[in-house]
Amino acid sequence: MSDFVHNTVILGSGCSGLTAAIYAGRANLKPLVLEGHEPGGQLSLTTMVENFPGFPDGIQGPELIEHMKKQALRFGAQIEVKHAVSADLRQRPFVIGVGKETIKTRTLIIASGASARWLGLKSEQELIGYGVSSCATCDGFFFGGKEVAVVGGGDSAMEEAMFLTRFASKVSIIHRSDQFRASKIMLERARNNEKIKFITDTVVEDIYDPRKKEVTALKLRNLKTDKVSELRTNAMFLGIGHIPNAKLFEGQLDMDKDGYLITRDYVHTRVPGVYASGDVQDRRYRQAVTAAGTGCMAAIEVEKFLEAEGH
Ligand code: NDP
Repeated sequence: MSDFVHNTVILGSGCSGLTAAIYAGRANLKPLVLEGHEPGGQLSLTTMVENFPGFPDGIQGPELIEHMKKQALRFGAQIEVKHAVSADLRQRPFVIGVGKETIKTRTLIIASGASARWLGLKSEQELIGYGVSSCATCDGFFFGGKEVAVVGGGDSAMEEAMFLTRFASKVSIIHRSDQFRASKIMLERARNNEKIKFITDTVVEDIYDPRKKEVTALKLRNLKTDKVSELRTNAMFLGIGHIPNAKLFEGQLDMDKDGYLITRDYVHTRVPGVYASGDVQDRRYRQAVTAAGTGCMAAIEVEKFLEAEGH
C-alpha cells in the first residue's frame, strides 16, 4: 500500500464526478478521479443534449463529457481508468481498493451514478441513442408527431409516458404483467390520457432495425397467449428502473430500500469527509444539470472539511 494520502478521491467520471473534479481542481486539491465502469456516465450513452444550459444549439452527450474532462484536467485533476472494488470508511484516511492496489484519501466523493436497467437485447444496445433511450426528458423532444413506446409498469414508466404525450402522437406502454407497481394516481392519469395505450402481459423480444440505425418496430410476445406481434413505433423508452452504483458501501453508509445513498444537507453521508453526489443519491431529478450541481456542492464541502482539519 502506498503511503501517499490524496486530498480527495472522486468515484465516477459522469457529469457529477467531473464537476466535482473541476471545483476540487480549482481549489488546488489535485483530486484523483477513478473513472469507473461506465466512463463518462449516462451522458456518454445519449446523443443530443438540449437541456444543459449554455448550449443553445444542443451538444452531443459524449462531447459535453469530453469538455468537462478537459476542464477538470486543466485544473490539475488526475483521471484514471480504474474502478473501486472496495472501500473502508471506518478508518482515516479512507482506504479504497482498486484491484490489487489500495488508495488512501482524506475525503471521498461518491459520484458513481446509477445505471439504467435495460432489457438486455442485442438490438437494444445497438440502437441506444438512435431511438432507444432510458430518458424521456432527454430524448422525448426528438419524437414530435411520432409514435413511441415505453416499457415498464412503475411510476417512471407512467411519468415518461405522460411526458412523451407532449410530443408524440401516440404512446404505447408495454408492461410484462397486468399488475402495476405505479401509484394509483399516476396510473389513473396515464389511463385517462387519450394518447396513451396500454399493452399488458407483454414483453419486447426484439427491436427493428439496427441496420437502418433507427427504431421502426418492436417484436412483442404476449405472455398469456404466447402470440407474437409487431408494433410499429419510432422509439422505445425504458422505464424499468435504475440501479444505483453503491453496492460497495453496503453496511457502511445509509441507503434506502433500493440501494440509493441517503444524504443529508444535500451531499453529506453519515461518515464525515464522505460525500455523495449525482444519481447515486438522487432518484428524483436525475438530470445532468442537477448531477453537476450536487457534484459542485460535494467539492465545496470537501474543501471546507480539509480546511477545518488544517490541510
Ligand atoms: P419500479 O421498480 O417501481 O418499476 C419498475 C417496473 O419495470 C416494474 O413495472 C417492473 O415490472 C418493470 N421491469 C423491471 N425489470 C423489467 C424487465 N427486465 N423487463 C420488463 N419490465 C421490467 O421502478 P421505477 O423506476 O418506476 O420507480 C422507482 C421508484 O421511484 C419508485 O419508488 C417510484 O415510486 C419512484 N418514482 C416516483 C415518481 C413520482 O412520484 N413522480 C416518478 C418516478 C419514480 P414488474 O412489476 O413486473 O416487476
